[in-house]
Amino acid sequence: MYETIFRRIAFPAYETLVKRRGTAGFVADYERSQWLPPEGLQALQLRALNALLDHCWREVPFLQRYWRDHGRRPGPLESPAALADYPTLTKALITANYADMIAASWRGRTLSKTTGGSTGDPFRFEYTMEAYARRTAIMWRGYGWAGAGLGTRTAYLWGTGMRQGGWGAWKDRLYHGAFNRHFFDAFSLTQADMDSLVDGIERYRPRAVVGYVAPLVSVARHMNAKGRTIAGIRGVLTGAEALYGPERRELERAFGCPAFDTYGSREVMLMASECDSHQGLHVNADHLVLETVDEAGRPVPSGTSGEVAVTDLHNYGMPMVRYLNGDRATFASGPCACGRGLPRLASVDGRVLEMIETPDGRKISGEYFVVLMLDALDVKHWQVVQTAPDAVELRIVTPAPWSPERRAKFAAGVRARAGEAFRVTVTEVPDIPKTATGKRRLTVALPRTPPGP
Ligand SMILES: [Zn+2]
Repeated sequence: MYETIFRRIAFPAYETLVKRRGTAGFVADYERSQWLPPEGLQALQLRALNALLDHCWREVPFLQRYWRDHGRRPGPLESPAALADYPTLTKALITANYADMIAASWRGRTLSKTTGGSTGDPFRFEYTMEAYARRTAIMWRGYGWAGAGLGTRTAYLWGTGMRQGGWGAWKDRLYHGAFNRHFFDAFSLTQADMDSLVDGIERYRPRAVVGYVAPLVSVARHMNAKGRTIAGIRGVLTGAEALYGPERRELERAFGCPAFDTYGSREVMLMASECDSHQGLHVNADHLVLETVDEAGRPVPSGTSGEVAVTDLHNYGMPMVRYLNGDRATFASGPCACGRGLPRLASVDGRVLEMIETPDGRKISGEYFVVLMLDALDVKHWQVVQTAPDAVELRIVTPAPWSPERRAKFAAGVRARAGEAFRVTVTEVPDIPKTATGKRRLTVALPRTPPGP
């Protein structure tokens, strides 16, 4: 009942009257377009793509130069596949040509955000309010497939959601309360926290649970070891890194419901998510173009792993066309049993975020280090490696060495969660190698004996 009232009345009113950004309209549009047949989706995608490219040719100085240098000329594409004739964009190119990446008519009106990106490499970009509204609508659609749609009572095992104390905390409480969601801090957990966290979730009586893979799995393992389950949950959604078979089974056993993997990033938010057929992740092709490409930027066939190149069709402020986000993914072929026309990814090979366990039993989420590194825009690549039970080393690829103050600030950030006795060093390195499968391990824990079945 609350879900229906919230979805039909409270949310559209809030979005239209307070935020003036039309998210509710986009929610309705995307609800419809997901059921279009593949040809219908391609036609929709082509219209949006040609409108975006036309805008870039008229308004984005860097893309005009860059594309002309690659032999492109203005003019509509005949199919979305023809986008592959355009060159790919990298973080380095966007950063080096930042002002010229912003559309002329949007200067001074965009919002900006920093991100660790999918690979964790710090990066800044611009976006518009409309792009944000559409991304929010797409997120609610994907969450809805897992039974965690708009207005559903949902427990988030997330980093921060609530501000501490004061008016901000009250505003957050009202805001998240209206959305029917509650945030539980999953940045660091001790064995003792684990029980009170599970108690807290149980008391909240959520219909869905959303969280980062590693903290969720560690909570699930704890619950399974103690024989605990929480009743009444329809779906558990994971994000931030790929969800594999054994972890999925731990989650499904603990929460007594199916698990749903999602794939997103701060740059474009939700790119793909799982439906209840659990046959891969549907790409939000009515909202963005996701390609998997080889080193020359040419598409690879379904079933073959390629680099992810993503184009948000609606961010007219800083249009990132064929942006290589650093992840790899593999497309599946054929239709999905659910009947949606949206194409599917068979797998995503993104970043790996291991939890760092301290000698006194605290488990620190890998995502916590991503947040600590958000503003380190000079750092090209980084990795946190646990070198001893009570020590981590931050390895950075950076043009200039960090000052002692900066090192101390990072160390203080780690000790805030790991304890005052924890040792933290920062080391400049020439490069950080990826794994053989192209994954980037952002946090590497000490090898441990794997938990029993
Ligand atoms: Zn499906």
